[in-house]
Amino acid sequence: MLSELSGFTGYLNGEYAPVNDLKISVLDRGFIFGDGVYEVIPIYSRKPFHLENHLIRLQNSLDGIRLSNPHTNSEWRDLIQKMINLHPWEDQYVYLQITRGVARRDHGFPKETTHTVFMMTNPWTAPAAELLTNGVAAVTAEDQRWLRCHLKTTALLANVLMRQYAIDHGAVEVILLRDGFMTEGSASNILGVKNGVLLAPPKDNLILPGITYDVILKLAEEEHIPLEIRNISENEVLNADELLLTSSTKEIMPITRLNDKPVANGKPGPIFHQLYKAYQLAKPY
Ligand code: PMP
Repeated sequence: MLSELSGFTGYLNGEYAPVNDLKISVLDRGFIFGDGVYEVIPIYSRKPFHLENHLIRLQNSLDGIRLSNPHTNSEWRDLIQKMINLHPWEDQYVYLQITRGVARRDHGFPKETTHTVFMMTNPWTAPAAELLTNGVAAVTAEDQRWLRCHLKTTALLANVLMRQYAIDHGAVEVILLRDGFMTEGSASNILGVKNGVLLAPPKDNLILPGITYDVILKLAEEEHIPLEIRNISENEVLNADELLLTSSTKEIMPITRLNDKPVANGKPGPIFHQLYKAYQLAKPY
């Protein structure tokens, strides 16, 4: 329901207003072409979590689509903090999006770019305890996206269709396979565990370099969990001892059903529990 957003203040090109009252032109290239990039930043106790890494990834995404950054990092920090301060929630997640602006419809870049900068925030709530206790279901599917998945672009149609495929099959996420190897989820990174070893796909052009992925891998190192960063075959996914989903809003969650079969014994495993606990302790509470 859009009406429930009325108390949420959004930001559009310097203007603050109830998010549903902010309007863009129908000629915005974000609307017409999906010509833009975005970030989602988790906020704990009113403090952005690993903001520096989100801003680095934002710059990489902008560079990847040849769009200049409309703000310095210190301006971004101020804009994000103001967005947080305008809302009462201790924990939030801030969404920001930059498009190549408004221009006559033509695929080539406009001569002069008028960035559209949009921001909003939402209250963050921890995943339901039941999901952490029992885990969630996933299904495998062929990765149908382009070859520049390391860029966080707003052109998410393939992700949307693949997530809906998961929902249609009673699952919360899809585990994508490209040429027989796992890439990631529709809106999350996926890690595996086999014989006590944490398996992570490499951060190449086929996956989004998740900020949570980085946090989890660093925590795994601190926890002395053996780690292999390498391509993970479909067969290894289907026979994993544990499958873990990571993202800024879901943190780390256990996948305990895959393609309607239990993952190992169908219960969240020891590596999940260890990393979940470490992640909670790493948050600034
Ligand atoms: N992969 C994809 C395709 C995503 O959309 C996301 C979440 N935005 C992630 C991975 C996880 O990234 P992060 O940990 O930075 O949220």
